[in-house]
Amino acid sequence: MATRKLNRRDFIGGLSQSVLSLLVLSRATQQLAASASQPTSVLVLGAGLSGLYTALLLEAKGLSVTVLEARDRVGGRVHTLHDIPGQPEAGGQSFSEKYERLVALAERLQVPLEPALGLDREMLLYVRQQALLPKDWAGAKANQLAANERNLVPPLLLNHYLRQNNPLQDATAWTKPEYADLDMPLADYLRSQGASTEALRLINFNPSSRTNSLETASALWALRNDQRGQNIGKQPSHIQDGNSRLPEKMAAALQSPVQMNKVVEAIRSLDRSVEVHCGDGSSFRADYVVVTLPFSVLREVEIMPRLPAVQSEAIKELNYTPVTQIRFTVREPFWEKDGYPPMMWTDSALQSIFPVRDRQGKVQSWVCWVSGEGAQKLDAMSARGLEQFVRSQLQQIRPGIEKTMEIVRVVSWGRDPYARGAYSHFGPGQIRRFQKQMAQPWQRIHFAGEHTAISSPGMESALESAERVAQEILSRIK
Ligand SMILES: Cc1cc2nc3c(=O)[nH]c(=O)nc-3n(C[C@H](O)[C@H](O)[C@H](O)COP(=O)(O)OP(=O)(O)OC[C@H]3O[C@@H](n4cnc5c(N)ncnc54)[C@H](O)[C@@H]3O)c2cc1C
Repeated sequence: MATRKLNRRDFIGGLSQSVLSLLVLSRATQQLAASASQPTSVLVLGAGLSGLYTALLLEAKGLSVTVLEARDRVGGRVHTLHDIPGQPEAGGQSFSEKYERLVALAERLQVPLEPALGLDREMLLYVRQQALLPKDWAGAKANQLAANERNLVPPLLLNHYLRQNNPLQDATAWTKPEYADLDMPLADYLRSQGASTEALRLINFNPSSRTNSLETASALWALRNDQRGQNIGKQPSHIQDGNSRLPEKMAAALQSPVQMNKVVEAIRSLDRSVEVHCGDGSSFRADYVVVTLPFSVLREVEIMPRLPAVQSEAIKELNYTPVTQIRFTVREPFWEKDGYPPMMWTDSALQSIFPVRDRQGKVQSWVCWVSGEGAQKLDAMSARGLEQFVRSQLQQIRPGIEKTMEIVRVVSWGRDPYARGAYSHFGPGQIRRFQKQMAQPWQRIHFAGEHTAISSPGMESALESAERVAQEILSRIK
């Protein structure tokens, strides 16, 4: 596809339908931008999808925006590993046509999409140290599920128990008071739905559970994800050359370049302005600040004046799921020797093990994808200890593989100082306690980021939050 540099006028001209509401909402801003010599200034903290989209929306309305980013790259939890065979995504993997904001934005920025490759259909199960195929699961000795569960392969158990009586009808229902009693430990809810102890044990190994553990996740939050999953879209998509291309293009379309290596340490809201202080001694002043840092990171940042108690609690306590990926290559196609499918779902410490394929379907590299408490255990090991441990585990699951593999990268989102986890999730009671207040503006400080969105999943949720926060700022300008 031919590309040309996108200017600001192009960007405004092609805003998505949902963004058009901004144009109506902020007539006052338009007047101000046209007449005032000093445009309203905004600091945006974080150059992930939410921060970059907030900046684009506010710049398009004539505001002066400065984005501060701690890393030496933009994109945050969207990060393509260009140097690993197969160019896998360490963060946001794929999306669908239901991500209307993201698809419209990619189109405006002339970032081409392509179908996502998705996971293999066939898999090897490795449960209770026994390797077997899904067709043999129901009668296998390793299958210690209750009689009514025996036909369900482990990756399907969570969906089975969430879907059967999910009362949530739409994407916002989870915030309504009538469902507050479901804000209980997910483990208790699954038990009440008939899940056996063995089912609960196996669900903990499922990457789609996206929790630390079933005890520390809210059932209402899991039901929310299930409701979203029922409306997931038909065309899994990916960005050509890697999802990182989208935030890179967003940053390039900004009038002021993103200020990199700016680790925010303190935010002060004053009477007529806001001040932000960074680890390198620099400080910035503006009329307003938009904070998109995950709460897992924000809890280390000083905010003055002190936030209301409920909001402080939310920042301190919101759960984040650690995810650790051990990426490796192999010299020989071991799966051609043993005849089992390459992909593995296991109840071992390595959890799920996926091949990363290229567009021709050829396996390029591998990933052990470990979430929750399992990830924390791996994160506590030394590099050498981890390598030995991974080899010994793989040797048991797929004998011979350990001789041909080489670890090429370990990505720990839990240890990443600017993420401290892969995705936020509510613990039992947290939706009731602080969901409504956690993203409220405080003086000149506003909040965005995936954790603050209501109705959209993953990458789209970051964009949803940007639209909301941009409207908040614009509606303050008289
Ligand atoms: C492993 C994984 C798999 C995922 N899979 C999918 C998927 O398949 N589909 C999907 O839709 N979504 C997926 N997601 C979720 C999606 O990537 C995120 O929801 C989204 O990218 C979050 O964007 P954000 O802007 O809210 O946060 P972030 O991207 O985290 O942006 C916050 C920014 O703030 C910066 N920052 C942090 N601390 C500081 C500081 N002190 N000072 C200055 N800057 C700071 C960070 O570096 C970062 O750039 C996945 C995420 C992960 C990690």
